[in-house]
Amino acid sequence: MARRAYDVIILGAGSVGVPAAWAMAESGLSVLVLEPFASPGQGSNKAAIGGIRATHSDPAKIRLGLRSLEIATTWKETYGNDIEWTAGGYSFVAYSPREEKTLKELLVVQKRYGLDIDWHDRDELLERIPPLRADGLLGGTLSPGDGHCSPLLLGHALYERATHAGAEFHFHEPATGIDVRDGRVHAVATPKGLYETRVVVNAAGAWAAEVGKLIGVDHPVRPDSHEGGITEPVAPFLRPMVVDTSPAPGSANYYFFQLATGQVVFCITPSPSLWGFDRRETSAFLPMVAGRMVRLMPTLANLRVRRTWRGLYPMTPDGSPLVGWAREVDGYLMAIGLCGQGFMLGPGLGELLARVVQGDTTAEDDEVLELLSPYRVFKGEEALK
Ligand SMILES: Cc1cc2nc3c(=O)[nH]c(=O)nc-3n(C[C@H](O)[C@H](O)[C@H](O)COP(=O)(O)OP(=O)(O)OC[C@H]3O[C@@H](n4cnc5c(N)ncnc54)[C@H](O)[C@@H]3O)c2cc1C
Repeated sequence: MARRAYDVIILGAGSVGVPAAWAMAESGLSVLVLEPFASPGQGSNKAAIGGIRATHSDPAKIRLGLRSLEIATTWKETYGNDIEWTAGGYSFVAYSPREEKTLKELLVVQKRYGLDIDWHDRDELLERIPPLRADGLLGGTLSPGDGHCSPLLLGHALYERATHAGAEFHFHEPATGIDVRDGRVHAVATPKGLYETRVVVNAAGAWAAEVGKLIGVDHPVRPDSHEGGITEPVAPFLRPMVVDTSPAPGSANYYFFQLATGQVVFCITPSPSLWGFDRRETSAFLPMVAGRMVRLMPTLANLRVRRTWRGLYPMTPDGSPLVGWAREVDGYLMAIGLCGQGFMLGPGLGELLARVVQGDTTAEDDEVLELLSPYRVFKGEEALK
């Protein structure tokens, strides 16, 4: 007979829920993951283009990103699966003094955390990224240890590790109720039954606020639509992920890189934001992003685009995740609001969540948890979100 009681129930088999299930099952907890879709990663994970970096400007994200990088870079030798990890680095380019100033100021924080990142002036950067437009280029940062891998391959590999460690996944089964007794989580209801537990983890991404409503808690997480695209494969010509943070009508930053398999993948941040759950791709995205990319790197005009798609960022007011126990209901743990970085923070965050549930956090974990506290006062947005 199927189990009906678990140490932990995780809501959402996505970028956060799957690695969290793995880490928790590895630590000896019995874990059930509930997921409305038919398989893992069908929420926003499959929409990600796969960038993983530690070079953030927020210390909590730096620490989680460093651990995720460690997991991704050593995955093949540790577990055998090829997740198409490529250490191409990230390059934030500057074509205006304002961008140069911001990037150089961030370098101070990033260096303080021992990150492998440097400023390169115009000629040095062109040596490393020859196809960049030289006209107007002032320079940029390059962090060679950052990189990218396939969200589908890593997502699936994490799912395999999680099931191997004993975590159970129920697909086609959303949480529809959370039973709270005497101020404490007692069980989770789904259309198929009731499962007892003392710990529920909300890892429902863009749907996190809907889950919060099940216990009457208001989460400031809003779905924000972002589109991505992929070209035909071509011979290698570009190593790092290139990020241009200069604003233009209709969009903020955009970023792109060449996969190990030759295709160029790309995304843009719409400005103003496109709030809502609509995941249908639009005809506005490609002309907007293609024009900007070709101006930055003229050789891209020769590439044919194969496909575009649209996914959801689970956005918070300040662009940083919300992680920690709820004060309103004992046993309800939030791991939500991963914004545009859930794929890269997920593996590091999954391990942290396991230590939180086991009551086994380190002093460094406690600092991260304080910075990501769901009860913090939101002040502005992170510079490189
Ligand atoms: C175009 C695009 C490009 C991106 N590129 C990158 C990138 O390069 N690097 C990066 O780090 N991030 C990237 N992201 C962002 C990344 O995809 C998200 O931050 C990340 O997937 C969020 O992870 P999550 O686990 O919070 O949510 P998800 O992965 O969406 O998982 C949440 C899960 O919860 C489930 N759920 C919903 N309701 C319930 C319920 N009631 N009960 C149980 N489960 C429920 C959902 O079905 C879903 O599967 C990109 C996003 C987009 C759209």
